[in-house]
Amino acid sequence: MVKVSLARCSGYDTSKVYAAVKRAVDLVGGIEAFVKRGARVLIKPNLISARLPEEAVDTHPEVVRSVVRLAKEAGAGSVLIGDSPGGYGANIDEIFDKSGMRAMAKEAGAELVKFAVSRTVDGIPFTRHLFDCDCIISVPKLKTHCITILTAGIKNMYGTVVGLYKAEQHSKSPKERDFAKVISKIYSIAKPHLTVLDAITAMEGDGPSGGRPRDLDLIMAGPDAVAIDTIAAAIIGVEPLDVLVIREAFASGYGEGDPARIELMGDDASSFVLPDFKLPQTIPLGLIPTAITNSIASLIKFKPCIVTDLCRRCKLCKTTCPVNAIEIEKVSCKIDYKKCVRCLCCHEVCPYKAIHIKRNILTRMVWG
Ligand code: SF4
Ligand code: SF4
Repeated sequence: MVKVSLARCSGYDTSKVYAAVKRAVDLVGGIEAFVKRGARVLIKPNLISARLPEEAVDTHPEVVRSVVRLAKEAGAGSVLIGDSPGGYGANIDEIFDKSGMRAMAKEAGAELVKFAVSRTVDGIPFTRHLFDCDCIISVPKLKTHCITILTAGIKNMYGTVVGLYKAEQHSKSPKERDFAKVISKIYSIAKPHLTVLDAITAMEGDGPSGGRPRDLDLIMAGPDAVAIDTIAAAIIGVEPLDVLVIREAFASGYGEGDPARIELMGDDASSFVLPDFKLPQTIPLGLIPTAITNSIASLIKFKPCIVTDLCRRCKLCKTTCPVNAIEIEKVSCKIDYKKCVRCLCCHEVCPYKAIHIKRNILTRMVWG
């Protein structure tokens, strides 16, 4: 049986978060089971946009602070914190600043690293830190996701890939099932030793960056991110295997996707369940049997739209777009829908919520 722990934690007070993270990690064997004395530790939070911690877009710095503290208490030789956000990491410094990660790292005695130099495995360019470190700790945020339904432990490791590869995958694998295979394979290579999920304040609605914060008061931990995602999906009212990333990772043997084979430790999982947790407006497609979705998929459409009045012309969406479909000019901003593959990466990276998702008439009639 794979162990997954749950620890209740309300709010991001430093000492409360540390107590909850420590309890969750203790329940799955204690930090010493993962971090050996003198080890070089890489912490991989989910940092996708330059937003404030209370917006629940990025992993909260207090959760990362607690993990740094635990690693140091176990005798880690050094602790690195890094990520590779969309837009080729062009605004990583701004993200480090606004998310509170830079200030926290300085106080906690950890080193921020940018994922730039890579080592290629199976044709995929991963950050070299993944292979230079002795222990990888993933610290994702629980959020909805317009393409993958949810993003948590499995998807967080997608950020260990650097350069053009991630953007290329969006254009090469525009179908959700193919994209789930890519994410799952990346997880299998970048598999962390420990995952600590920040679900104190999660995100519902049009995640991973355009949704609303929703308090879940929960920290989860365990060595198997597939098992963590399986329980997290159930908590937000989603059948775990409807999440293609979980289904693919489970079917490929990368982790446990059967709730009956997951041993839950700590607080009662049922006490966290939020059946009214709002999913992205794009998602009902993913929850309908494939045969039906295939027959109506061509009729049901979502598209990103730039709200010119909100746009600050930072051009991050343009840099991120894998098919060069976005034009940002002083007077107008446009998306070429003949080129657009609906990957919604532009929606994900926009720091100003200036890209909205628009549904066509049939979609609105079907989903309301
Ligand atoms: S839409 Fe958002 S990401 Fe794109 S240029 Fe405008 S503000 Fe920047
Ligand atoms: S315009 Fe946005 S949704 Fe369309 S391909 Fe570019 S990044 Fe993806």
